[in-house]
Amino acid sequence: MPAMNTIAYLTHPDCLVHDMGPQHPEQPERVRAVAHQLLITGLMDHLDYFAAPLATDTQITACHSPEYLMFLQKSAPGQGLVALDEDTFLTPHTLPAARRAAGAVVLATDLILSNKYERAFCNIRPPGHHAGRSRTGGFCFFNNVAVGIYHALAGGVRRIALVDFDVHHGNGSEEILAGESRVLMLSTYARQLYPHTEPSPPGGNQVNVGLMPGADGTALRHAVEHHWLAALEHFRPEMLFISAGFDAHFQDALGNQKWLPEDYIWLTQELVALANRHCDGRIISVLEGGYNLEALARCAALHVQGLLGHL
Ligand SMILES: [Zn+2]
Repeated sequence: MPAMNTIAYLTHPDCLVHDMGPQHPEQPERVRAVAHQLLITGLMDHLDYFAAPLATDTQITACHSPEYLMFLQKSAPGQGLVALDEDTFLTPHTLPAARRAAGAVVLATDLILSNKYERAFCNIRPPGHHAGRSRTGGFCFFNNVAVGIYHALAGGVRRIALVDFDVHHGNGSEEILAGESRVLMLSTYARQLYPHTEPSPPGGNQVNVGLMPGADGTALRHAVEHHWLAALEHFRPEMLFISAGFDAHFQDALGNQKWLPEDYIWLTQELVALANRHCDGRIISVLEGGYNLEALARCAALHVQGLLGHL
């Protein structure tokens, strides 16, 4: 059995208070379900807990416009909900949660760059990968992983890979990171789903693989083996960020893929092996989507188990 490392686990109670209504799929119970699964599987014993700080204005505006941040702050209601797009709603508790979510990735970056930890997992919401430079989208307000990536770049990391395996295309991350030569973005996404864009590689720093509706994990494995790995080996990242969405699972009502838990295990093992080859093992994984609570909890825990090197 390989050695089991301790990894940093970042979350915050504020992430449970932002609530867009009982019918909304992006619900507080998601973070709670993941935490519960980590507890009952015993994995939590191998995680060091950190309360996520609030991301500062400076950290947020490294990848969002100051006007957008001001707009969100001015729009936050005293009570009730404000619709910012068709499925993203601002509540009185949204911005503290969103700042904690982005702040988790910032602190995770500091913990890894100071060599206190090799890996970190951020169990946070709201998610981030649909948030663009000056707009919300798909339940996302701040692009948490991009905030962390710009923090790492400012900290001297020269090459960063962002892997996004959420079932939806990370169009916000793509918009923010397009043309940023220090970052290589690799994603799989399902066609015919939100955000309904056909992603293009504007800066040549993106490797997007569209998956056909109804595809199983075979298509994922093909994408990784034939598209991601060669690009990653050539790029030689010094640090790996993961936009970890679990909505390609076959039971997820918002997805259209047929991934199984073993597909998430395989993918995590591939990414850990890559990080061990190029990044001194350094991985920061950040929760994005995943809306079937049971599937989300199970697959996220398997992913964390893989990050611990214990699969
Ligand atoms: Zn998603």
